[in-house]
Amino acid sequence: MPILRSLFVLMLLHSLSVLGQQDITVDRTMRIGLHRERTVKQVIVMPVKGNWWVVVDGERKGEVTSTDGLRIATVPGGLSARSLTLNLTAKRSIELVPRNGHGFFRLRLPDTKQAERTYPGSLRVVPAGGNLLLVNSVPLEAYTAGVVQAEAGKEHHQEYYKLQAVTCRTYALTNQRKHQPEGFELCDGVHCQVYHGRNRNDSIQMAVDATHSLVLVDADIRLIHATFHSNCGGETVNSEDLWGRSQTYLRATVDTFCIAAPHATWHKSMGRGEWIGYLQRKYGLRGDDSAQLHAVLNYEPQCRDLYLSNTWPLVPLKEVREDLKLKSTYFSVRTEGEKVVLEGRGFGHGVGLCQEGAMRMAKAGRSYTDILHHYYTSVHLVDLTTLDFFRDEPAGPGGPRAR
Ligand SMILES: [Zn+2]
Ligand SMILES: [Zn+2]
Repeated sequence: MPILRSLFVLMLLHSLSVLGQQDITVDRTMRIGLHRERTVKQVIVMPVKGNWWVVVDGERKGEVTSTDGLRIATVPGGLSARSLTLNLTAKRSIELVPRNGHGFFRLRLPDTKQAERTYPGSLRVVPAGGNLLLVNSVPLEAYTAGVVQAEAGKEHHQEYYKLQAVTCRTYALTNQRKHQPEGFELCDGVHCQVYHGRNRNDSIQMAVDATHSLVLVDADIRLIHATFHSNCGGETVNSEDLWGRSQTYLRATVDTFCIAAPHATWHKSMGRGEWIGYLQRKYGLRGDDSAQLHAVLNYEPQCRDLYLSNTWPLVPLKEVREDLKLKSTYFSVRTEGEKVVLEGRGFGHGVGLCQEGAMRMAKAGRSYTDILHHYYTSVHLVDLTTLDFFRDEPAGPGGPRAR
């Protein structure tokens, strides 16, 4: 009885949101590991304005201002920190915390060519195997804005930025245990979500504010895995077809919006012998069987398939994509003399939201909620405060929903 169930859920969420708004006002904080792909031996931290506490091994030891900076480096047995007026050592950690609770700091890595970046929130520096571990504690909304700027880029429609804000925020909370053993929640690279600090784009800020605290949940009120890809080629993919695990919200969906977009098609050619040799080695294709050869040299899918030509030997398209580094699993095969030509559609794994389709939908005047419901089946947009109340999970440091 899916309709009744949805109605029940909506009524429940509505009543909870009224309660939730009264009870929960604290903004949650994310802990982001910065520059994890680099070896960092020293950093220079400069407050953008105001006075900042310098906290050494958990104790306040001094202040820095925007006219000064703190150089933090690894030394045997811990860390050293120097400014114009301070000369400190720490065994476990050095933190920079804005005195009035919020602010921005600039971070420079003097041993690298990395450009300086500005971050919201506070910074904790910890010695880790002779290097520095840098952790930015940042309010979820400021982190979301930073990620949308780094991931989505410039000049997009406001509705597109809104749906990016919702999916980036949802992703952050769904994956907040990803780096737990390392002492932070998410890294700042493509492994998690790209984050280069403070967002400076007004249009993105408006979209983040307009969707404040909104996340996507499935029919059982669990935060979803809001997966996305560049271009689906006209049809998205069921999650189980790629990852073996079915999700009610990651269902194959026809998409007419992306088929004229920049990554809608691709083309790859190779020697006939190379193609057949690969299929012989890996899948036992018989080179003397004309029916088998015909099937792998003349293939024209009518919709997304799981196997090349859907015939024996079974050749999983997701493996072909990985082995030959193809842009997608959605392609046809034909021969041109001694060459084999693969004509492909789409770019990426094809599960969940199709970014180029979503951009076109936004341009065509669709709302961000319409677009999210198009790519994610049977999901609800809910406020995080409602979610906390509904799930009744412990809040506080170290808990799964720590804020
Ligand atoms: Zn990561
Ligand atoms: Zn698409």
